[in-house]
Amino acid sequence: MTEQPINLLSLDRMSMERFFQGMGEKSFRAKQLLQWVYQRKVTRFADMTDLSKELRQKLDISTNLDLPEIVSQQRSRDGTIKWLLRLKDGNCIESVYIPEQDRGTLCVSSQVGCGLNCTFCSTGRQGFNRNLDVDEIISQVWIANNVLETLEQSEEIVFDRHDNDQRRPVTNVVMMGMGEPLLNFDNVVSAMRLMMDDFSFGLSRRRVTLSTAGMIPAMDKLKDQCPVSLAVSLHAPDNALRDKLVPLNRKYPVEELLECCRRYVDSSNRQRVTFEYVMLKDVNDSIQHARALARLVSDVPCKVNLIPFNPFPDTQFERSGESVIAKFRDILLHRNIFTITRKTRGDDIDAACGQLAGDFKDRTSRSTRMSQHKVVFS
Ligand code: SAH
Repeated sequence: MTEQPINLLSLDRMSMERFFQGMGEKSFRAKQLLQWVYQRKVTRFADMTDLSKELRQKLDISTNLDLPEIVSQQRSRDGTIKWLLRLKDGNCIESVYIPEQDRGTLCVSSQVGCGLNCTFCSTGRQGFNRNLDVDEIISQVWIANNVLETLEQSEEIVFDRHDNDQRRPVTNVVMMGMGEPLLNFDNVVSAMRLMMDDFSFGLSRRRVTLSTAGMIPAMDKLKDQCPVSLAVSLHAPDNALRDKLVPLNRKYPVEELLECCRRYVDSSNRQRVTFEYVMLKDVNDSIQHARALARLVSDVPCKVNLIPFNPFPDTQFERSGESVIAKFRDILLHRNIFTITRKTRGDDIDAACGQLAGDFKDRTSRSTRMSQHKVVFS
């Protein structure tokens, strides 16, 4: 039986060094290959001129550098760009680029769908299909940089660059797209290592953020193995409410989650964690909720990110009013908790937080069950 060609985009530097050693090659071939692929954007082995002809031929036979196909690219009036990408098995996922004055953030997906079923999230309502492979995660960054550089060359978009600013368009990555990244731990960590590798995209770990709904054991593992910036989807200040909004809370309750965040900050040398808090009208946005939240996080070095709820078809939730959000923020600020309200970006193309849907086969049949399901808030 012939072996399946291996996609070299699925190997971080260590695995690639092992791969080349296994071929009887020197391990520094890994660095050369990473530079060709990620820095020079070359994906044809024939063009990799500092590799011997013989090696290039061998790679051609036993490996590939296949990328997902871009099915569509939508641009929001605020500059946000959303891509729908078709994977090798036909499932489609989404990634979103959010340009800001001093940076360009790519929101990257980690799974096809999501298994967690947070009640206010469109991705969760679509159900779940599978974890993404390493190549499917890192490809999202490759594709975004490649498309954006092409748009920059044709002067369709302009980056605010200073002299000698060689930065790629994607300066920051947030693992906040479709899926729960910590339920795809090994692949997400390998892909993040690639994002941060000096021979690849070279992002600092401050510029790579992983957002989790609170998978406590995996957060501890992350702290030990790959301590990137951490964002935690809190959304409620107590267990009763959080159980309803983020069902994972029934397994990993709020007090234990907060304890875990403290451990993360203490031992990973991070300044603080970010708590995400989606603002849902009349559900979690009262003055009492704000005070309880302030008490809850008071001894964790943190920043709170208030996210105005982004609606999607058939949802039972509404966005809190602007003045309610401002009041909520002021209560936290008044208690010395650094708080910002996340600007809604790309909502005209359904690219805002929680709106990513992709196009895939649900293997849990949750999408059908959930369309009739409403959560009761007393
Ligand atoms: N599974 C990870 C990453 C997913 S999404 C997590 O739970 O953190 C990134 C953020 O968007 C999370 O904080 C998520 O709770 C939030 N979000 C989901 N649906 C939303 C919606 N409809 N409006 C606003 N934010 C939403």
